[in-house]
Amino acid sequence: MINQWIKCEKCRSIISTPDLEENLFVCPKCNNHFYISARKTIEIMFQDFQELYSHIRSIDFLKFDDYEEKLKKDIEKLGINEAVVVGYGYLKIDRDKKNEIGCAVMDFGFRGGSMGSVVGEKISLIAEYCYQKELPLVIFSASGGARMQEGIISLMQMAKTVSVINKLKSKRIPFINVVTNPTTGGVAASFVAIADIIIAEPLATIGFAGQRVIEQTIKKKLPPNFQTSEFSLNNGLIDAIVHRKDLAQFILNFVSSFYFWKNYSS
Ligand SMILES: [Zn+2]
Repeated sequence: MINQWIKCEKCRSIISTPDLEENLFVCPKCNNHFYISARKTIEIMFQDFQELYSHIRSIDFLKFDDYEEKLKKDIEKLGINEAVVVGYGYLKIDRDKKNEIGCAVMDFGFRGGSMGSVVGEKISLIAEYCYQKELPLVIFSASGGARMQEGIISLMQMAKTVSVINKLKSKRIPFINVVTNPTTGGVAASFVAIADIIIAEPLATIGFAGQRVIEQTIKKKLPPNFQTSEFSLNNGLIDAIVHRKDLAQFILNFVSSFYFWKNYSS
């Protein structure tokens, strides 16, 4: 990697890119978790990752201004066809490869991680895949909400993803959601909210409507840490806040206990 210097937005420390990468893109001074792309998350977390449904692409069915162009730009910039990458594999720390996982990783860099028809479809497809193969599902969420260029079809993805993911419960297959910064709008309010275990990275933003909109509506000042992981944990919306370096182990504990139970009961 080329040695470059990056400034942390939170504490303004200057960090070299190799140091940052070694620290899993977390500021060594203040623990600020930097944005990482879906591809990078997969590279850091998984081994033997097999991508599925990568060919599915959004179409501009509402003929919305510039949508086609914006999609093209993000596809070129990030090397992915949509705001989520789905597939299956093993966590890197799962050395014996005993605990296969289905996963979906959203990318905030692609149209703000917004959920349109294709994001909803891919998440539903990987959930169905996990249901058929009896694999635990792990989703890394990052989203600004619904894809406004796809209108009402975007909102329908909330019901669609939730209904497929809910099928996992009938087979007692765990669904773990990792909230990365930010996870808001229709994504926070749909499949993220129904996860069996909701883990968040420190200081991630999680919520439905924006803070300013809520303040204007209720005409009250909201607490300074409103809609952070810490605020959400204190109010019971999420189950744990986990540092990126501990995340794989945290997930593996749940996944391996699922496999233990599955083998034990069969
Ligand atoms: Zn920092």
